[in-house]
Amino acid sequence: MPANILLVEDEPAIQELIAFNLQQAGHHVLRADSAEAGMNLVKSALPDLILLDWMLPGMSGIEFSKKLRADERTRQVPVIMLTARSEESDKIIGLETGADDYITKPFSPRELQARIKAVLRRRAPQITDDVVEVKGLSLDPATHRVSGNGAPLDLGPTEFRLLHFFMTHPERVHSRAQLLDHVWGDHVFVEERTVDVHIRRLRSALESTGHDALIQTVRGTGYRLSAL
Ligand code: CA
Repeated sequence: MPANILLVEDEPAIQELIAFNLQQAGHHVLRADSAEAGMNLVKSALPDLILLDWMLPGMSGIEFSKKLRADERTRQVPVIMLTARSEESDKIIGLETGADDYITKPFSPRELQARIKAVLRRRAPQITDDVVEVKGLSLDPATHRVSGNGAPLDLGPTEFRLLHFFMTHPERVHSRAQLLDHVWGDHVFVEERTVDVHIRRLRSALESTGHDALIQTVRGTGYRLSAL
């Protein structure tokens, strides 16, 4: 489950240690030593997760987290706060700013990994390696295989990502713009009708087992995967 992780930590030794552990676990790490530098990195590309130190020079981790939550574009990015404090009241303040989890220094690499995995599973299931299944349609992110009632189905890479996103966010309507953000990536300039082209390809790839019926068009709004 390699993720793009932004690490915002001003203490060089701690930053180095955490970055090393994350890289060992297969993640891609972007580093910043202040909230301001972190903000600039977020502007150029959205990370899958942000590890955010509480005490930073200049803007604090809490203020940064609040800014992320206040902006439509960054609202959904999972945040784990790193802190040397452990008082219960601080935890509550941290979570009220919108952080998804909280980890108190010093922590073991194993504990950090477990927290990251749990937060990603909850907030960004499309980037985990868990097999997903809906009504006999099965998708395995680790092997990149899709099958319908046990029969292998052949999907292109974009259709695969599109289906993975739908299957991990079922029963919700997604606009074309939202699908572009989540499946094609933030800051990618593609026309919205590109989505329609790939939806068509996806449906035709699922046709042989009848699973194309799961992909529904919601008039004037977008698309959804529904097993109902
Ligand atoms: Ca610090």
